[in-house]
Amino acid sequence: MKYEIRVEKTPNPKAKPDPSTLEFGNVFTDHMFLMDYKEGVGWYDARIVPYGPIPLDPAACVLHYAQEMFEGLKTYKTKDGQVQLFRPDMNAARTNKTNERLCIPLIDEEFYVDAIKALVEFDKDWVPELEGTSLYIRPFIFGNEPFLGVRPSHTYIFCIILSPVGSYYKGGMAPTKIFVEDEYVRSVRGGTGFAKIGGNYATGLASQEKAHQLGFTQVLWLDGKEHKYIEEIGTSNAFFVMDGVVYTAPLEGTILPGITRDSVIQLLKDWNVPVKEERFTIDDVVAAHEAGKLDEVFASGTAAVISPVGELRYVDKDMIINDGKIGALSQKLYDAITGIQSGTEPDAHGWTVKLKD
Ligand SMILES: *Cc1c(COP(=O)(O)O)cnc(C)c1O
Repeated sequence: MKYEIRVEKTPNPKAKPDPSTLEFGNVFTDHMFLMDYKEGVGWYDARIVPYGPIPLDPAACVLHYAQEMFEGLKTYKTKDGQVQLFRPDMNAARTNKTNERLCIPLIDEEFYVDAIKALVEFDKDWVPELEGTSLYIRPFIFGNEPFLGVRPSHTYIFCIILSPVGSYYKGGMAPTKIFVEDEYVRSVRGGTGFAKIGGNYATGLASQEKAHQLGFTQVLWLDGKEHKYIEEIGTSNAFFVMDGVVYTAPLEGTILPGITRDSVIQLLKDWNVPVKEERFTIDDVVAAHEAGKLDEVFASGTAAVISPVGELRYVDKDMIINDGKIGALSQKLYDAITGIQSGTEPDAHGWTVKLKD
């Protein structure tokens, strides 16, 4: 390992939650990983310590100018009791792409994965076993220098916390209702749409609240310039099956390069399902719906894996998709990906990584 990780065990381990009551992201394990960065020194003092508050100066630059990034991935316990991660090298690589954009110092990608493995190994009793549950891993980095000038921080904290999470779908996968956002935008070319940063989420909240108030689950984002090209659904990538062809927005800097997105595209290619990463518009979608050729719509992301869309509202047009039911391709992708993640399906692409690999 590139850096030593010192460990300090908690004197007060918490009671583990009942796995059947787990939700998303409100329970945390006994320990967290921390590492500091100082200009001229680099990353130092990697440590696993009891989970708890991180002291922060009120002038810490992250609180004022949002120099912060995060990642999200899950780890699963297989039937034979092994704990495995899903494509953690992709999270490490994406972290550095995000860091570059936000002037956050890069981090050794191999060590990043080693740090995740070490923390999960330390708290592995917290990986829930009930079907559909997993341990969510949240690595994040922020500038903590107390300084009100606008420039990159000279000091940073890299932290990893763990949260046992329940099945995203209580009582099975259920299609969502999506509102096409035609007022606010999430990202523009040259902006930060491809980077996983808190700032992108803060600016999306107003749309999400609007969607909720109107009775929708999430928003569909259109491009920031012409307000017509399909980009993403909430904080997930978006796929549209039109006349047997699967379309998803290309990686041109405005959408998040999802690891689930990449896995979906690979599986579709494996299955010889035509898939196109190219620009397409909301008008293309409306036309396909009117022609009876909008077969399926689904979102992809780590939290829900695959989230089928049953209804899409664009201005005053209400489009019911696949009779509001889960599409066959959505279901097949969900089963395939969760099967690989939990070890019940063969892993042809070597996507899973055991803690001790
Ligand atoms: C994290 C995220 C996704 C999904 O990425 P995964 O790697 O599949 O979890 C999609 N869109 C946005 C905006 C995201 O933040």
